[in-house]
Amino acid sequence: MTKVAFIGLGTMGLAMAGNIIKGGHSVTGFDASADAMESHRNNGGDTAASAAEATDGAEVVFSMLPNGKIVHQAIFGEGGAVHGMADGAILVDMSTISPSETDGVRAGLAEKGFDMVDAPVGRTSDNAKTGTSLFMVGGAAETIAKVRHLLDCMGDTVIDCGGPGMGTRMKIVNNLMSTTTNAVTAQILNFSDALGLDRDLSIEVMSGTPAGKGHMSTTYPAKVLKGDLSPAFMVNLAKKDLDIALVQAEELGVPLTVSKAAAEVYVEAQEAGRGTDDWTTLYDMLRKT
Ligand code: NAD
Repeated sequence: MTKVAFIGLGTMGLAMAGNIIKGGHSVTGFDASADAMESHRNNGGDTAASAAEATDGAEVVFSMLPNGKIVHQAIFGEGGAVHGMADGAILVDMSTISPSETDGVRAGLAEKGFDMVDAPVGRTSDNAKTGTSLFMVGGAAETIAKVRHLLDCMGDTVIDCGGPGMGTRMKIVNNLMSTTTNAVTAQILNFSDALGLDRDLSIEVMSGTPAGKGHMSTTYPAKVLKGDLSPAFMVNLAKKDLDIALVQAEELGVPLTVSKAAAEVYVEAQEAGRGTDDWTTLYDMLRKT
C-alpha cells in the first residue's frame, strides 16, 4: 500500500483519487472546495485542512488543478504541498499547464530536493471515472517507475514521452491537434449541411477517406514520413479543391475560417516550387524553413 496525497478533487481528480483508493492505497485529499472534500471522504478517502497537511508522510503527491498559476500556488504558496512533503516524496502533476510552467515547478521542487513527474491526461472525464485514462509522462525513468503502479490504478495507457517536461509538451501538441480539428470539423459539417448533404452520409464518406481517418495514419506514413514526395495527390490539385469549397462557402455565406488559413499554407508551398509535390510535402516544407 502506498501513502498518497491528492491535491485537486474536481471533475477529474475526484474520480482518479477514487480509483487509487480502489487499488488498495490510502489517499489523503485536499481541495479548495468543501463539497469536493466531502465527496472524497464518501469515496473512502481522508481529507486534510491544507495541501501541506495532506502531503504529510505521503510517498507520492498528485496534483490535478485548473491551471499553472494554481498549481504553483498549491505547491509553493502558503500551506502548499511542498511544505509538508517528506524526504523522498515524489510529486506527479497531472494538470494541463504550459511547458514553461512545468519546468518552473520542476526547478522549484528540485531546489528543495524533490523529484517530479509531469503526467497530463489524455481522454475524458468518463475515462477518469472508469480508470481508463491515458497518461503522457515526463520524468526520469526511475522516478516514473516508482509511481507507475498508481498511474495504472487510474489509466490503461502510460506513454513515456522522453524525459522531464516532455509529458506536458506532448499534451499541448495533442490538444492543439484535437482543438484545431474540432473547429475544422464543426465548420466543415456546417458547410456540408449548407450544401444540403445528409449529415450521416457525409460522415460515412469522410470516415472512409483521409478527411476523417486523419493524415497521420494514412497519407503521412505512405509518403512524407518515408521521404517520398512524388505525387500521389499533388499540391496544385489539393489547392484547386480547397478553392472550390472556399468559393462555394462564400456564396452560401458560411464560415470556413480554418480552411482559409489552411489555404495560405498551400500557397506557401506553391510559391516554394512544391506545387507538383505530393500534398504531404507541407510537412517537409515546414521542417526545412
Ligand atoms: P475542475 O475545475 O473540475 O477541478 C479542479 C479542482 O481544483 C476543483 O475542485 C477546485 O476546487 C480545485 N482547486 C482550485 N484551486 C485549488 C487550490 N489552490 N488548492 C486545492 N484545490 C484547488 O477541473 P478538472 O476538469 O478536474 O481538470 C483539472 C485539470 O485536468 C485541468 O488542468 C484540465 O485542463 C485537465 N484535464 C481535464 C479533462 C476533463 O475532461 N475535464 C481532461 C484532461 C485533462
